[in-house]
Amino acid sequence: MTSDGLRVVIVGGGFGGLCAAIECRIRGMNPVVVEAYPTSTAYGDIIDFFPNGGRIIEKWDNGRVSRELMSMCINQGDRFEYYMADGTLVWSEPWLLRKEHFWRQYAGHRGQMHQVFVDYAKRLGVELRFGDSVAEYIDGERPGVITKKGTKYFGDVVIAADGPRSKARQQVLGLPDAKVNSGYAIYRAYYSLSEEHKRNPYLKEFCNPDRDLTMMWVAKDLHAIIYTWNKGRDLGWVLTHKDSADIGESWSFSGRIEDVLKCIDEGGFEQKLREVVLATPESRLVDYKLVWRQPLTTWLSKSSKIALIGDAAHCHLPTSAQGGSQALEDGVALAVALQRAKGDVTLGLKVFERIRFNRSHVIHMSSIQIRDGYHTLDEETIKKHPETINLPRWTWVIEHDAEANAEKHFDHLAQDVRNNRQGTIEELSVPAEGDFSIAGRVDHAIMEKSLQASL
Ligand SMILES: Cc1cc2nc3c(=O)[nH]c(=O)nc-3n(C[C@H](O)[C@H](O)[C@H](O)COP(=O)(O)OP(=O)(O)OC[C@H]3O[C@@H](n4cnc5c(N)ncnc54)[C@H](O)[C@@H]3O)c2cc1C
Repeated sequence: MTSDGLRVVIVGGGFGGLCAAIECRIRGMNPVVVEAYPTSTAYGDIIDFFPNGGRIIEKWDNGRVSRELMSMCINQGDRFEYYMADGTLVWSEPWLLRKEHFWRQYAGHRGQMHQVFVDYAKRLGVELRFGDSVAEYIDGERPGVITKKGTKYFGDVVIAADGPRSKARQQVLGLPDAKVNSGYAIYRAYYSLSEEHKRNPYLKEFCNPDRDLTMMWVAKDLHAIIYTWNKGRDLGWVLTHKDSADIGESWSFSGRIEDVLKCIDEGGFEQKLREVVLATPESRLVDYKLVWRQPLTTWLSKSSKIALIGDAAHCHLPTSAQGGSQALEDGVALAVALQRAKGDVTLGLKVFERIRFNRSHVIHMSSIQIRDGYHTLDEETIKKHPETINLPRWTWVIEHDAEANAEKHFDHLAQDVRNNRQGTIEELSVPAEGDFSIAGRVDHAIMEKSLQASL
């Protein structure tokens, strides 16, 4: 048997679904992606991929995809700077921790980056069916889906990459839609900078054509990040704040500038942030309620011919900074497992789950821990340990090679599956390789020295 021509039905053309489709196609499979949005390019603001996700992209089309992305992403960012609300600089670290991260670390406009993924998938010949959403999953000998428009897609395997509000959780895993209000929300916006902004003394530094900025401010129960890129032409900002209102989840709920300004004042943020908010066209302001999903105990359907991946399987809060990268890791690990299983889809999916489960679980859970860390930091702690404020870049997370890892573990996990080895999913899966203790963090002093030496 072989995986050549395997029909892979993928629900959801976000980054997770597209990565799975691309990686399956590269390995000779025949994927089709069914996506509800007619186009995703208009949606979202800034998204990050760290080196563990970026190294997957770096391999595509001999680096062409990386180059396309980098032309629209932060590429002149030398530092990531951390401030107290009043503007006191407390920590600064390199944006890139290693020289080779240049082609592996991306932050830019989600819609524009998404288009690059779509274009590459098209060039590879992935079948894209956008503008129709899946209404029903069918788990059986030949699994499939039926869309709202009534189109049926059956295949050898179905991958539900249908995001945080995944229908597959309910229909495939039989779970209730157990969304948990995290108690926080994010105001987010993205806009282009103009000559007028250059004339505002508070905004002038964001219009610098020679330097992309990444800056973060922390206050009690609040944290804000501003990014600029594209030679001082684009600015994105996010402000995480406490919020118990439950308006559901969407990327397109409008926010109100006056509500953001209240948060800015409550946090005692410096005037610069106020001006960034004031300059935001209200139509660009999204009020995104952060909803959390508890970890699942399995990502597989009864028949093990349907698997959930990406945010459908492990919906992160943005503070892990790993939502996008983990979805890409799933995509490549899945394709490797399906290929190595040589057409035995059930085996492939079971091994895939065991390769990814513990790692993704620990990273998923970290998003709560990291957010609470930011919001409860007191000035004394920050003065003593300014490094505790920095971006969560643990070596075991960001240097991980998901493709090599899947190749390395396939055989022994396949053996376990064939031998019907008993145990919990945690016991049967590859260990996570790390935790989120301070000890596991990147040592910035060492990193800076080696970076300077390599430049
Ligand atoms: C429109 C949009 C904007 C976003 N903007 C940002 C952002 O600005 N910053 C950020 O950090 N993260 C953003 N995210 C989230 C981020 O992209 C994901 O956390 C991460 O990339 C994981 O990707 P995923 O593919 O697992 O899930 P998602 O990116 O959520 O993709 C899931 C896809 O499945 C589709 N889908 C869902 N249900 C069905 C169905 N029944 N039938 C067919 N298709 C279905 C959705 O339309 C979506 O495109 C956004 C997600 C979306 C969908």
